[in-house]
Amino acid sequence: MSRKEESQIQPTRPESHLQGSATACLHHTIPCEPVNPSGQDIWTLHDSDEDLPPYEGSGTTFGKEETSWLSDEIMKTLNTRINELSPALRELSLKIHDHPEIMWQEHYAHDTLTELMASYGFSVKQHYLDIETAWRADFQHRSSSFDGSTPVRTLGLNSEMDALPGIGHACGHNLIAIAGVAVALAAKTVLEKHDITGNIILLGTPAEEGGAGKVRLIEGGGYKDMDICLMCHPGPGPKNSSGTGSALALTGINVEFFGHTAHASAAPWEGQNALDAAFLAYSAVSVLRQQIRPDHRVHGIIEGRNWAPNIIPDYAKMRWLVRAPSAAQVEVLQERVINCFKGTAQASDCRLEINMTETMYDLRQNDVLTHEYQRIIQDNYGMSLNSMEGAIGGSTDFGNVTYELPSLHPSFAIPTQPNGGNHTPGFTDAARTKAAHECTLRVSKALTQLGLRAIMDEAFLGQVKEAFNPNK
Ligand SMILES: [Zn+2]
Ligand SMILES: [Zn+2]
Repeated sequence: MSRKEESQIQPTRPESHLQGSATACLHHTIPCEPVNPSGQDIWTLHDSDEDLPPYEGSGTTFGKEETSWLSDEIMKTLNTRINELSPALRELSLKIHDHPEIMWQEHYAHDTLTELMASYGFSVKQHYLDIETAWRADFQHRSSSFDGSTPVRTLGLNSEMDALPGIGHACGHNLIAIAGVAVALAAKTVLEKHDITGNIILLGTPAEEGGAGKVRLIEGGGYKDMDICLMCHPGPGPKNSSGTGSALALTGINVEFFGHTAHASAAPWEGQNALDAAFLAYSAVSVLRQQIRPDHRVHGIIEGRNWAPNIIPDYAKMRWLVRAPSAAQVEVLQERVINCFKGTAQASDCRLEINMTETMYDLRQNDVLTHEYQRIIQDNYGMSLNSMEGAIGGSTDFGNVTYELPSLHPSFAIPTQPNGGNHTPGFTDAARTKAAHECTLRVSKALTQLGLRAIMDEAFLGQVKEAFNPNK
């Protein structure tokens, strides 16, 4: 083939595809529409300016007869309080969004959030448990009739803060941060105004994105004073919806191949090629993927050091993540993945070193908290249940929290761009829209109701604790 002919070769992708035309697409070769297996409509940014469906902010029901366990007055107090706080929370959310900080470096968020919680009368511990960017904010109220004869219950909450390298708040942790603050402040107002005994603990939890920050907080005893723990997480989904699905358990495998450099042309037989080892390992895992379950995930990258095309590379590093619906399944899958590395190390005559990272558990949502939350969002806030399995589809260190104490981590939909879910620059934009803010506040109101019931209704908390299963 002449050079001229070569240069005339066109990409095989049809032009219509590049333009995103649905009618002319060859769907059997390349899907061009966002994949949405649930069949539910994803809420997209272009209709984000539509208002959320209204709800009776001061009442107890949303078109249904069922009444809330909380009194009308308490419902009104918490809804009104979050509405009042909305401008301050919006400012806080945008400040954090404008100062994205990756895991373990959330200094701006740490200082801003702790200053704010202190200004609202919480007792604040900065650098909690000697973790530089972790913090804790406590509030306690004892009713005038409190005589110490009844147990005092504690509502635990989490505010995440970290962003992603290069793409900022592409997981919407600015919204998670303000949700924790909103629930803590609204619950405080209810305890004071209605003279109810209870404790509130809000933890500022660093390094969710790859650092398993909550595991360090668990190890340090950060969750031991809580009766339950609540947080929420934004993602794409149907308009005005929230889901309570699980998340995948995850473990990380860091792999290093050590070989021997040589001149790539003059004496290649003297080399042991670490890049070949990594290349074969990548291929082996790719082949393995066809034989694993559809809800299992293996994905990784290759990193080099002093690579040049005329040198046989003597070092390659791979960082892999292995995920499955339970930690037990991750253990089985990780062995199969490690076998790929062992085989390719032998084939390439390279030395292999493997280091495992912290395992994050699957998200074990507490059944009783889940059902009550689902009732609240539907009856009191006119929201629908998002049945998209794994709307986030990732993993979270909050999974480990759900094995420590009764917990809930609902996801909620914000309007997004097509194919602009979590961990994309499109989601970074979505996380600062007014509509995303309004969604966050609505879910915060629901979580405040749920949390208050847990610390006020002894029988309910009993059921919550009975449903808790710490077995791994
Ligand atoms: Zn994320
Ligand atoms: Zn996240």
